[in-house]
Amino acid sequence: MDAQFKERWEQLQQLMSKIISYSEAVGLLHWDLRTGAPRKGVEARSETIGMLSTEAFKLQTSQEMGELLDFFAQSEIIEQLDDRKRRMVEECRKEYNRSKLIPEQKFKEYTVLAAHSESKWEEAKENSDFAGFEPYLSKIVAFKQEFIDYWGVKETRYDTLLDMYEPDLTVQKLDEVFDRLRARLVPLVKSILDSPNKPETEFLDQLFTNEQQEKFGTFLLEQMGYDFEAGRMDESVHPFCIGLSIGDVRITTNYIQDDVTSSLFSCLHEGGHALYEQNIDKELEGTGLAYGASMGIHESQSRLWENMIGRSRPFWNRYFRDLQQHFPDQFSSVDAEAFYRAINKVENSLIRIEADELTYNLHIIIRYEIEKMLFNEGLSVKDLPEVWNRKYKEYLGIMPPNDGLGVLQDVHWSGGDFGYFASYSLGNMYAAQFMHMMRKEIPNLDNLIEEGNLLPIKEWLTDKIHKYGKSETPAEIILRVTGEELNPDYLADYLEAKYKEIYKL
Ligand code: ZN
Ligand code: ZN
Repeated sequence: MDAQFKERWEQLQQLMSKIISYSEAVGLLHWDLRTGAPRKGVEARSETIGMLSTEAFKLQTSQEMGELLDFFAQSEIIEQLDDRKRRMVEECRKEYNRSKLIPEQKFKEYTVLAAHSESKWEEAKENSDFAGFEPYLSKIVAFKQEFIDYWGVKETRYDTLLDMYEPDLTVQKLDEVFDRLRARLVPLVKSILDSPNKPETEFLDQLFTNEQQEKFGTFLLEQMGYDFEAGRMDESVHPFCIGLSIGDVRITTNYIQDDVTSSLFSCLHEGGHALYEQNIDKELEGTGLAYGASMGIHESQSRLWENMIGRSRPFWNRYFRDLQQHFPDQFSSVDAEAFYRAINKVENSLIRIEADELTYNLHIIIRYEIEKMLFNEGLSVKDLPEVWNRKYKEYLGIMPPNDGLGVLQDVHWSGGDFGYFASYSLGNMYAAQFMHMMRKEIPNLDNLIEEGNLLPIKEWLTDKIHKYGKSETPAEIILRVTGEELNPDYLADYLEAKYKEIYKL
């Protein structure tokens, strides 16, 4: 038995190594495509990416993988697995089932449809033409409903989708969490919008050269502890972070000439993602567990840096003078306090990706509620715009003038990514809960930030979260680090305290 166990385990390891190599290669090709590959090479490159992805997919869903997973599923074998090995097998099984439980022909049809649907969505968004997109979206939803049956219905149908992005998270838990959060945020946003004490932001409307912006962004990343010998920063249309291996975690930013805050906060955001992946325990490399625990935990790391550190008063009490040094012409007659207020202005915008850290959560709650209605409560796709607009009016006090600025604004649904949105808000809630604990364990945190000593933050996060990679589930991480389950009150407390002070409520 032992010899067989050893042999099988080595087989699984080898298979994993191959899959990981393919995904590193595909990742690098993607990175290149998005950071400046010549336009005329795009078509050939896309072919190559498609080919290599298919190879990796074949390995992941191969008969060999199936047999190995069955072997390690035997109860007397499971007993021999340590925690890490068990997690590895679980993750492989999840990947395997995701596509293997669906008949091959169905899966192919769906892939083709999703590709078409995305380009239809682009067109529809541009022309504000929901009717033109509706037939595609209806088909996508119908496919997803079928897939849910193949995958197996959890507590509810929508639970099955949520679980793909945030393992073990349930509708029951999220309903409770989002209801509590919404009940506190909606009135807060209302009173902020009614407040006469609005931050001045005119001084942000100036010109900033790319060179100046790049220098300052690089400086901040160094301050956070981003390791430029294990990564690099480039430009792309949409900023992103990509972990190719623990020793190669790259980020990008996008410079906007008349908006210095865009690139600045994207550096902190993507830097937060990158610190996570750069500081995973090296021993996890090659196991399939050297990644973030979930979308939500990943997003907690980026938002903690971007918002809870990067938009805090102690941070700008320290770094505003560096900002002035990097942009002497633009900020010589502005002070740290004015800057702090300006970067924390709250607006009830129609567009999720332009939203501030407070209203952002309401954009997400709206999407969550609508997705749940689609999959659990029989909402028909054609009624989406009406429900969408009603909720925007109710939670944010604004009404989209057209569907392009409303229900058609996000790409996610066109590609079938239902269940994904919640991760963004989960990230905010996890981050606030982590911050609460960090403040308990590092009581002089604000002083450290004001001294420009950010490394204790990075070390705390590495020690509590980063080094574990994917070897624990999100629920396990939050419980181990904070001693309790996900609790939305930490985020609501943080937002209330911060914004009541800024808006003098
Ligand atoms: Zn990212
Ligand atoms: Zn992010």
